[in-house]
Amino acid sequence: MKTQNYINSEFVNPIQDNWLENYNPAIGEIYGQIPNSTKEDVEKAYEAAEKAFPSWSNTSLEERSKILSKIADLILEKLDFLATAESKDNGKPISLAKQVDIPRAASNFQFFANAITQFSSEAHESVGLGAVNFTLRQPIGVVGCISPWNLPLYLFTWKIAPAIASGNCVVAKPSEITPMTAYLLGEICNEAGLPKGVLNIVHGLGTTTGQAIVEHPNIKAISFTGGTKTGAHIAKVAAPMFKKLSLELGGKNPNIIFADCDYDKMLATTIRSSFANQGQICLCGSRILVEETIYEKFKKDFIQKVSELKVGNPSDSETNIGALVSKQHLEKVKNYIDIVAQEGGEILFGGNRVTVKDCENGYYLQPTIIEVTNNDCRLNQEEIFGPVVTIMSFKTDKEALTLANDTKYGLSAILWTNKLNRTMQFSKQLQTGIVWVNTWMLRDLRTPFGGAKESGVGREGGFEALRFFTEPKNICIQYE
Ligand code: NAD
Repeated sequence: MKTQNYINSEFVNPIQDNWLENYNPAIGEIYGQIPNSTKEDVEKAYEAAEKAFPSWSNTSLEERSKILSKIADLILEKLDFLATAESKDNGKPISLAKQVDIPRAASNFQFFANAITQFSSEAHESVGLGAVNFTLRQPIGVVGCISPWNLPLYLFTWKIAPAIASGNCVVAKPSEITPMTAYLLGEICNEAGLPKGVLNIVHGLGTTTGQAIVEHPNIKAISFTGGTKTGAHIAKVAAPMFKKLSLELGGKNPNIIFADCDYDKMLATTIRSSFANQGQICLCGSRILVEETIYEKFKKDFIQKVSELKVGNPSDSETNIGALVSKQHLEKVKNYIDIVAQEGGEILFGGNRVTVKDCENGYYLQPTIIEVTNNDCRLNQEEIFGPVVTIMSFKTDKEALTLANDTKYGLSAILWTNKLNRTMQFSKQLQTGIVWVNTWMLRDLRTPFGGAKESGVGREGGFEALRFFTEPKNICIQYE
């Protein structure tokens, strides 16, 4: 499949006619070509967005809401087609794309179609001063949305939907590694009647196309999801232009398991929170901390359950673990496995590449469990972002909390306990943006989403996203 840029509702080749190759990681073969866009392509996208802004920002909320709803409906109508494209592009199991990624992309549009109609300005009567104040929330103008490869359409639409719902026009860039469903979204937007120029999608490399979006002096806000290093770089580039930034970055999330938890539910959920999407979710609980009294039992049961997971062709509905997203990423993850011994760890399960029938050149890796005894090791401090978890034991609540907080990241934490007191103590003291207690990845789209420390700046989700994509303006009227 050959993708094109989507500018002013039209599909166009990159100006310099330069293309990049895109791979299907399940078979290690070329899946398509994507534009290797330059600054000039970004400029064209910006011009289309800027032209569309006066009309779109004055389009009634009901009309905007209707179009967003229609996009949601069309995504669901094309669910199988989009899920197949997503699975081929990313290597994720088709069942996951069908059950999670694509339905969630539709929910993103449906959620913000509804939310925008309830997002109202605040008013304050300044009693005794004879004045009233009210705060308008005005769209910013042209905004940039840049997303990663792990949940391609899910995260792309998580930014675009609130941006356009609140009246902005967008220049968006999906990951160059997984561009397909973002490309297909263009057709859906046309079919739904989204006016020309409201959404513009430019494909290409981060260091050229992405950088051009961040550097553009008139793109006033950037919503970015990706790695911590890239986020820091973007912040540096954007700072002199005083751009508004939302940065959703990496994680090294603790999964803290106490003996008093609901053991069976914890075990089943821990399989998911460790290996869903090949462990390539920023929220995966990649550091498993287990109370000493159940450590040996957990180890045995966990290894047993993990050994039952099927690594296989993502298009097979029985597959639990598909392919890693690229050859480079597989090598990066494998490099961590190669340092296990020198980091003082021991592989309890997995660690090897897997050859899948009819997909011999695909990028498959066994789900891997590594036992560590020291939290300072690279395996416990750096984001591996693959089907690799570490486990270690703890004795006391204090020790568990210290270990949980002892990384530079602060995205999310998972806590397994049935004690209310412990739940509250940990929830308050964990240095993360999200705490899941006795569950994982349960998302109510109204709630704020984002990380602390080096996992990010700002929050997405619910009204937080609409606040990010609007500028508050206070108006004070003295009537006496
Ligand atoms: P990445 O930072 O390499 O790339 C993310 C996006 O940024 C891509 O579209 C890329 O082309 C673009 N980009 C790269 N350099 C750029 C630059 N200089 N200027 C502008 N754009 C640039 O990340 P990735 O490898 O695609 O994704 C994996 C990372 O994303 C992991 O660290 C993961 O934890 C993180 N992530 C975070 C969240 C979250 O919500 N916090 C969600 C998903 C993934």
